[in-house]
Amino acid sequence: MTVEELNPLKNVQKIIKETCKNLNLSESIYKLIKEPDRVIEVNIPVKMDDGSIEVFKGYRSQHNNTLGPTKGGIRFHQGVNLDEVKALSIWMTFKCAIANIPFGGGKGGIIVDPKTLSKGELERLSRGYVEKLYEVLGEDLDIPAPDVNTNAQIIAWMADEYNKLSRENAWGTFTGKPVVLNGSKGRSEATGLGIAIVLKEALKKLNKSLNNSSIAVQGFGNVGSNAALCIENLGGKVVSVAEWHREKGFYAIHDERGLNIEKLISYFNEKGTLLGFAGSSEIKEEEFWSLPVDVLVPAALENSININNVDLIKAKLICEGANGPLTPVADDILKRKGIEVTPDILTNAGGVIVSYFEWVQNLDNYYWNEEHVKEKEEEFLVDAFNNVWSMKEKFNCNMRNAAYMYAIKKLAEAMKYRGWY
Ligand code: NAD
Repeated sequence: MTVEELNPLKNVQKIIKETCKNLNLSESIYKLIKEPDRVIEVNIPVKMDDGSIEVFKGYRSQHNNTLGPTKGGIRFHQGVNLDEVKALSIWMTFKCAIANIPFGGGKGGIIVDPKTLSKGELERLSRGYVEKLYEVLGEDLDIPAPDVNTNAQIIAWMADEYNKLSRENAWGTFTGKPVVLNGSKGRSEATGLGIAIVLKEALKKLNKSLNNSSIAVQGFGNVGSNAALCIENLGGKVVSVAEWHREKGFYAIHDERGLNIEKLISYFNEKGTLLGFAGSSEIKEEEFWSLPVDVLVPAALENSININNVDLIKAKLICEGANGPLTPVADDILKRKGIEVTPDILTNAGGVIVSYFEWVQNLDNYYWNEEHVKEKEEEFLVDAFNNVWSMKEKFNCNMRNAAYMYAIKKLAEAMKYRGWY
């Protein structure tokens, strides 16, 4: 029986090693990028509503700043751990290199289930994280953003705390802020829109069209819901969505005629569940993964498609909305089955691209309209897609290997110029 490696740090280190070998790069490159440059662990005391004190553990990982300040989201989740944060920061370095934006990779997280906190406790925890870390954050140092279970409100508290402590007005230190607080138009839906753009480009290369293609989406948070909406706007038919409930666990709904995503978003916001949505029926987890759809978009968490469910998959294309949703074993099996995968470090880069636009707008003190943001996002992503596709053709490999080759080759060149090896 194959035993799966589920540690994302070990998995990303393995692919870095293979990529360095395929590119004939020296061992020094592998040593320079296999671990983050700096990792900080903090313990954040929070006064709870009942007067007691809880201490929460948080992390910030700054992987590599060859191409610019480190950049990456902050995750609030009970499953956060150091290796996960490190891996996510490494992926950010590669994502920024592929997107051709002048950032390195960073990531942060706090071990907490935010749904168990009151609004006041959540605010104190968010501010406490910044209090512990503000000296290593900054517009030219390390720039956080939202990730799983964090949103514009949490980022607003963090940016406010940073500006108070540093006695600055440095709004570019955080991206994903509310538009009214120097955020960028188009940021909240940027990752989802980017997924739809990459999906459209990939289907074009496979001589297919998004029009009337059937799509299933796992995870209906920021990324999954916006991806579903943008895919629908571009003519795709979203037939199934899967979610997670604290007590029930995994569940999914299905409607062969296509779900109305705008209405589904309102329904989910109001009811807190997808179940019971008009015209849809509930399907079991096994049925969800087995759906004979054209495209599957995993947009929840790491390792969602693994040795236990990969053999069920009948989709023809997988677009990785989440970071690390496929285990390496699942990835290999899909490769052998001829199922094409657009990798996370390309597919979900729309979020960090528009975060880059937000940072540019903050530094310029000049704000763009939504149409301009969306046009530019598409321009950056189509360029990134074409660069990865050219690499795929040149090396006759799949898109994941091509994406890693593109990113690591670029980093190696830049580190050489900087005199790091
Ligand atoms: P989110 O917290 O807004 O949404 C995640 C959703 O997935 C939640 O609704 C949750 O209930 C659901 N979920 C969790 N486990 C599930 C499971 N096993 N099956 C089905 N649904 C499940 O988070 P998000 O910001 O949408 O991030 C999702 C993924 O995308 C993460 O991997 C994140 O790192 C990645 N990502 C996010 C951004 C961004 O801009 N927010 C950018 C790039 C990548």
